[in-house]
Amino acid sequence: METEVTGVIQRTKDVKSVRFRRPKGFNYLPGQWAFLTVDSDEEQKTKPLSFSSSPTEDYLEFTKRLTGREFSNAFATLEMGDTATIRGPYGKLTLQENHKICMLSGGIGITPLRSMIRYSTDKELKNSIILLYSNRFDDAIVFMDDFDEMQVRNPNFKVITMITRPSPAWKGLTGRINREMIEKKVPDYAERVFYFCGPKLMVDAMVVILSEIGLPETQIEYEYFSGYLGAQGGESE
Ligand SMILES: Cc1cc2nc3c(=O)[nH]c(=O)nc-3n(C[C@H](O)[C@H](O)[C@H](O)COP(=O)(O)OP(=O)(O)OC[C@H]3O[C@@H](n4cnc5c(N)ncnc54)[C@H](O)[C@@H]3O)c2cc1C
Repeated sequence: METEVTGVIQRTKDVKSVRFRRPKGFNYLPGQWAFLTVDSDEEQKTKPLSFSSSPTEDYLEFTKRLTGREFSNAFATLEMGDTATIRGPYGKLTLQENHKICMLSGGIGITPLRSMIRYSTDKELKNSIILLYSNRFDDAIVFMDDFDEMQVRNPNFKVITMITRPSPAWKGLTGRINREMIEKKVPDYAERVFYFCGPKLMVDAMVVILSEIGLPETQIEYEYFSGYLGAQGGESE
């Protein structure tokens, strides 16, 4: 589908969101992704990106970590009115409405989770969602304002942030998501379905932790932000 840029938001120093007109009849589920094609030096570049927008919002939004690579630079310089092509939606990591959920994010894997949390909030769904959200720096937490606002609107949503390299001003939790953190902060973890996605290293580490605390595979849902190679448009991370 052809579309145009309708908005650009610099989220942090190296993370940017770009909003596109949502073509008539374009439907997707919260948590899904699409191939985004943008023009770069007269060539077209394509990558798979999760929707950070929710289907309840009237635009399509992608949020990308800026890497200085070719597609990334083309994404970073998109301006209002520029055209792009979206092919999708794809992906099976989507919100199950009848489960208690715990979401884990160690960085840019937050994008599909934000889509699901926003959907759940807008639809006033009753299932409890806890988000454990680890970031490197406390001044670079993507969507934090958004999550703060959703916590006020949605009594079933709670975000717990932790920082691996905190500034002296940071008063909250520190460190990465690990077994102790999950057991302490999510005491009813055994009743929850866990959702997460991101680079392979992070995803595989989470699978190991959750297996160690005894969660069955049926309670672990994840997607890699890598693995769609060459002809399909994306290099792996
Ligand atoms: C289903 C899915 C959803 C995704 N959703 C998102 C999302 O919401 N947001 C997001 O930011 N990303 C997402 N990704 C990842 C995204 O598709 C890109 O792979 C990623 O953003 C990196 O793309 P890039 O063009 O910036 O860098 P690439 O050019 O793909 O390079 C990635 C990294 O690989 C290394 N590298 C690559 N080529 C070389 C080389 N020749 N020499 C040395 N090093 C090299 C570099 O370290 C570089 O930083 C998703 C991926 C999948 C599969």
